[in-house]
This record gives sequence, structure tokens and C-alpha cells, in this order.
Amino acid sequence: MNKLQSVLSRYGVATAAVAIALLIEIAQPWTQAQSPFLLFLVAVLVSVWYGGRNAGLWATGLAAVLKTVLLSLAEPVDNWLSVPVGLGLFLIIGGLVSVIASPQGRGLSSVEADLKESDERFRVTFEQAAVGLAHVGLDGSWLRVNRRLCDIVGYSAAELQQRTFQDITFADDLATDLTYLQQLLDGQRSTYAMEKRYVHEAGHLVWINLTVSLVRDRRGQPKYFISVIEDIRDRKQAQAELIESEARFRRAFVGAPFPIIIYAEDGEVLQISHGWTDLSGYALAEIPTIDDWTEKAYGSRKGLVREHIRQLFEADQAVDEGEFVIQTRDGSTRTWQFSSAPLGQLGDGRKLVISMASDVTALKRAGLKMQRFNEVLEQRVTERTALFKTANQELQAFSYSVSHDLRAPLRAMQGFSQALLEDYAAQLDDLGQDYAKRIFKAAAQMDQLISDLLAYGRLGRAQVKLQPLNLEALVQEVIQSLGLSAHSSQAQVEMQSPLPTVQGNYRIAYQVMTNLIDNGVKFVSPGVQPKLQIWAEEKPDCVRLWIADNGIGILPEHRQRIFDVFERLHGVEAYPGTGIGLAIVRRGVRRMGGNVGVELNPEQGSRFWVEFPRSTIAKIE
Ligand code: ADP
Repeated sequence: MNKLQSVLSRYGVATAAVAIALLIEIAQPWTQAQSPFLLFLVAVLVSVWYGGRNAGLWATGLAAVLKTVLLSLAEPVDNWLSVPVGLGLFLIIGGLVSVIASPQGRGLSSVEADLKESDERFRVTFEQAAVGLAHVGLDGSWLRVNRRLCDIVGYSAAELQQRTFQDITFADDLATDLTYLQQLLDGQRSTYAMEKRYVHEAGHLVWINLTVSLVRDRRGQPKYFISVIEDIRDRKQAQAELIESEARFRRAFVGAPFPIIIYAEDGEVLQISHGWTDLSGYALAEIPTIDDWTEKAYGSRKGLVREHIRQLFEADQAVDEGEFVIQTRDGSTRTWQFSSAPLGQLGDGRKLVISMASDVTALKRAGLKMQRFNEVLEQRVTERTALFKTANQELQAFSYSVSHDLRAPLRAMQGFSQALLEDYAAQLDDLGQDYAKRIFKAAAQMDQLISDLLAYGRLGRAQVKLQPLNLEALVQEVIQSLGLSAHSSQAQVEMQSPLPTVQGNYRIAYQVMTNLIDNGVKFVSPGVQPKLQIWAEEKPDCVRLWIADNGIGILPEHRQRIFDVFERLHGVEAYPGTGIGLAIVRRGVRRMGGNVGVELNPEQGSRFWVEFPRSTIAKIE
């Protein structure tokens, strides 16, 4: 009912009530005599009851006017004053009744105010709701929409109101929506919710969640729909990304070229990779449980393997399981090296394990081949060692014969040439004597060469025992045996004191130091007094002994090769020697687990260094 109708009905009822009172008064004049305003007062009360304060006032006024007219038509009364007084009283009482008895007067105005406020609250709530809200006509037209809905679909309220929801629903989703709507209208359901897409004003699709309910009138006839529209673009986007990433991982897992399996603690196999099927020959359908798999792949060994797998569910981190030999579908065997890790739980609480294997069958075969090859090699080494031993023994026999058999004639040459010089000097002329001297010298040189070679050979064979070696005592002995000292007029040797104790072999170290000191004294320019300095340098894992001379020096390009056998930089005439001394030094030092080298002496000449281990077992060369 609209406002005008309501006003008309209220004033109509008031007018009618007054009219009825008037008619009764005319028809029943005794009522007037009893109480002249009683009927009109009743009419006022009825008006107030039905139409409120204003209707009551209207009835009071109308009644007063009609009463006045009525009285003026009637015979004049005796007490002329009683008419205006009665009228006045009626007006006052009517007015009071209207004001007091009306709903406004009874405080009902606050209800109206509350209604208004609640209406306003509803309007604001509707307008400012964080979700889209709409009243939708039965034909689908947007009757009322809020701002959020406009934001979601990109249309203004006015634009929407010119459209229906069908207009902006994505075609694929419309049929479902309409089916649900029909069910609402048919009373099969009181509400429905669905995810669907609107076509945004800009053309793109917008995912929303729609909840619809139907409002019916008092008689149960459908009036309009209330729709709640929630923007779920972000959720849908996240969902799509999740699905995509899930699919990606699934592809990676399934397509993996090596065996992977995921299974639950009750034995259900959830997934296997293509690699698993390719290498074992079994598809997922053939091994739905771990029991099926172990039965097929391990045969009689299945019990052990099952127990092992059971224990995997107790692990809380990755486990390296080692190698398992499996039997494939075609009956061949393969070796798989497994590692497994816990993979969380299924929705129903069952624990999961993922196991990955690398197929090491080829590697194993290669390993076996290698082992066989090694055995052959070892066999060969044994054979060669035996040969080498024989050769070595022959060499030893040879050196024995050299030292004894070759040396005997040499000694004879030396002895007889010396006898010639001593006993037959008178018979020999100068040339004869020179020849005899040359024979003696050559024989002596050859004797030295042989003994050096033998010493060198011995160094390669002898067992080298290392023990603490007092360098100072050793060097002192060498100096003395060479007839040198710090004050000698021929050659001066200065030695740092004390020198440390190292690990070494006395006999070899003696040979080494003798050769180095002897060379230092020997290789000086003519007329120069040889001067040697000997000191030790402590290093973290060794002691380096330095022997510096003031000799002729060694060019950098020769510093390596002088340690080889027979390498000499000078003729025997200038500096006598066999060229084996430094070779003996290098071999000896290495056999003691040390090293040797030479540098330029910053002052003059060269300086050799020898490193002795502090306390290691000598490496056998
Ligand atoms: P040898 O002393 O019998 O000649 P070595 O093997 O001891 O043989 O030395 C090899 C060569 O290295 C020597 O001939 C010499 O040319 C060079 N040489 C060795 N020690 C020195 C040194 N202290 N100063 C200069 N040259 C040296």
C-alpha cells in the first residue's frame, strides 16, 4: 500500500466514524440529551485507534463543526452558556485523546523511527557489503545491485539494471544456473550455490561464487531472488596454478627414466614411474601392492625384503638401502640400488614412502669385468715381478762379477803400471814413463767408476732402515774424513751448531753428505779457496739442510740433469770425477723419504739442499 492510500484510508475511517456518530445522534436524539458529546468522543477514539493522532484530531475538529451545525439547527437551550463550554471541553478532550491514545502518543513513534533506522542500516549494509549483493527479478533482471557487484562485473548499477543476469553469464555456465533457479521456483530447494563465470564489461571472464535464495510473498508466490556474489578470481587462479604444478610434478615423476615408486604403509602401491615399468617389465596394474611386487621380483627372498620395507616406515629421513637384485618380468635379473624417504601421509592417515632406484646392472657387469681384468693384471704383475726378481738376481750376480772379476785385472793393471814406474824407471824413457802413468790413471779412474756404479746399484736394492740421525755428528765426521775444517788453509767449512736430529739412514746419509761436500770443495775456479757453509732450516714436516759453496755455480738449465747418472758439465781434465756422485745423492735421499735440489747461491756459487723427514717411514722408490 502506498502512502497516499494509507492517508486516505486513515482520514476516511475518521470521517466515517464521525458521520456514523452524527447519524446515530440524529436518529436517537435521547443520546444527545444524556451526554451531548459521548458519541463523537467514541468516533474520535475509533479514528485515533485506526488512523493515529492526525486522524483523531481531524475527527475531533470535524465532530466539533458538525455538532455546532447540529446545535444551531436544534431549539435554543436554556443555558446558552453550556453549548460553547461543552464544545470547548469536547475539543480539549478530543485533542488530548488524539495525542495520548495515538500510537505516536503511546510512544510508537520510536518504533517507526527504529524501523526507519533499520531500513537505513539495511540500505548501508547492502550498499557497502564486501560481497556483491543483488535482488533479481523472476525474469532475471537486476532489480537492485550493490557497489561491489558493479566492481566485480565492471558495469554501473544503471547499466546492470538494463540487463538480466543471463546477459552477463558465461554461456557455458548458464544452463546449470537456470536449472538451479527452476528448482528454487519449484520449491525443490530453498537455496543454491555454484561457482560460475560472468563476462566482465571489458570482455574477460570473472570467476564468482553465487548463492541464491528466493523471496516469496505472504501467499507463497515467488517475488524475487536474493543473490550473493563473491569474487573468487584469486582462489581460482591459485587453484589453477596448483593443478598445473601438480600436473608438472606428476609428469616429472611418471616420466622419470629411472625407477620410482610411492606406496602406503598398508602396502598399496600408489604410483610407479615409467622407468620402473621399462626396467622391471611390470605395469602398475600388475603390482597393485608391495606384496605383489616382492612376490614377483624377489621370489623366495620376499620375506626379508618385506621386513626391510616395513622398517622404512619408521625412518624419519632418507635411507640409503644399498643394492637389491630383482627378477624382471622376462626372467632376467637386474641390480637396483635403492634409496627411500618418508613422503608424509595420505588424507586417511596412512604413511607414505617414496623409493628411488638407480639401475646399476651395467655398472655391476662392468665391475665384474674389471675385477676379472684386475685378477689377470695381478697375475701378470706376479709373473713380471718374478721375471724382474730373476733379472735382479742376474744383475746382482753381474755386479758381483764386476766388482770381483773386472776389478782383479784392473788392480793388476794398476799394480803392474806402478811396478813399471817404480822398478823400471831407469829403463823407460820419458814417453814410456808417461804411458805407464796414463795406464795407471785410467785404471784408477775405471776402478772408481766401478765402485761408484756398484754403490749406486746397491742403493736401489738395499733395505733402508730409518732411525734418528744426529746431523751435526754426521757432518762433523764427513768433514773430518775429507780432511777439511773451518781453519784449513785449503778449504774452509763453516757449520751451524747445533744441527737438529732427523729421521734417516746413517750409511746413506754419510754417502750423500760426502758427495755434496766433496763437490762443493772441488768445483771452484782455479786459485780460489773453497769456502762452504752448512746450516739447517726447520720446516713443518721436514728439516732442510743447506750446503752453500763459493764455486763456479750451475746454470739453471743444468740444475735438473746433473742428478742423472754420468751427467757431467766439465771434462775430467778440468775437474776429475765419474758423474755418478749426484745420482747417488738423489737416489739415497729419496730412499730416506726426502728430496734434494740446487739453487744459485746469492753470494757466489751454488747451494744444494737436502730434506730429511722429521719422523716418517721412508717411501720405497
Ligand atoms: P762428479 O762430481 O763425479 O763429476 P757428480 O754427479 O757429483 O759427478 O756431479 C755432476 C756434475 O754436476 C759435475 O760434473 C759438475 O759439473 C756439476 N756439479 C756438481 N756439484 C757442483 C758444485 N758444487 N758446483 C758446481 N758444479 C757442480
